[in-house]
Amino acid sequence: MRLLFLGPPGAGKGTQAVGVAQSLNIPHIATGNMLREAVAAATPLGLQAKAVMAAGDLVSDDLVIGMLMDRIALPDASNGFILDGFPRNVAQAEALATTLDREGLDAAVLITVDDDEIVRRISGRRTCPNQHVYHQDDNQPLVPDVCNIDGETLYQRDDDQEDVVRNRLDVYRDQTEPLVAFYRSMDLPIHEVNGVGSMDEIQRAILETISA
Ligand code: AMP
Repeated sequence: MRLLFLGPPGAGKGTQAVGVAQSLNIPHIATGNMLREAVAAATPLGLQAKAVMAAGDLVSDDLVIGMLMDRIALPDASNGFILDGFPRNVAQAEALATTLDREGLDAAVLITVDDDEIVRRISGRRTCPNQHVYHQDDNQPLVPDVCNIDGETLYQRDDDQEDVVRNRLDVYRDQTEPLVAFYRSMDLPIHEVNGVGSMDEIQRAILETISA
């Protein structure tokens, strides 16, 4: 199954995509995670992406499309995948459609949350260097500021500061939200799920709607 997770930053795409990918036994491919790893490792790609990401703008299509195409060509993606954070604009969606074979994508999941809730969620988000995600009110680690899974110290992403979050939301509305109309025009099934609720409830709603 080839799925796409759409929705604004902070909608819970990453959290939900990890769970759905485990249930379906397919890889979760998140371009934001891949880019943060490249920044942390100071690779040439990471060095180019760092400032753009910190400002909440989009990394150039050339860099991201190449990175994503290399990833979906790996053997573990041959039976399907969940894309999270890609495509982010119509140019990326067109590049993806050209690369995938005739079967293309199976469906998109669109997670919706209003803007005030997004800002609240993202500005309280804390992340570990291995990309495990917590929230200072909604999903606290057992020990303050320490990841439950690997014991790493949690930090706030540069692009999770409130002013940058507002820019990321503008970028989403301008460049990424038009993908909903783009995919509707291509007759891709789009399953809309309310992103407010418990993590388990939302997970169940997603699994039900994609298997219906
Ligand atoms: P995310 O973890 O999906 O919120 O992404 C964090 C940041 O990484 C974004 O604000 C962008 O700067 C960059 N990024 C992630 N995915 C893409 C993409 N498909 N195209 C361009 N930039 C991206």
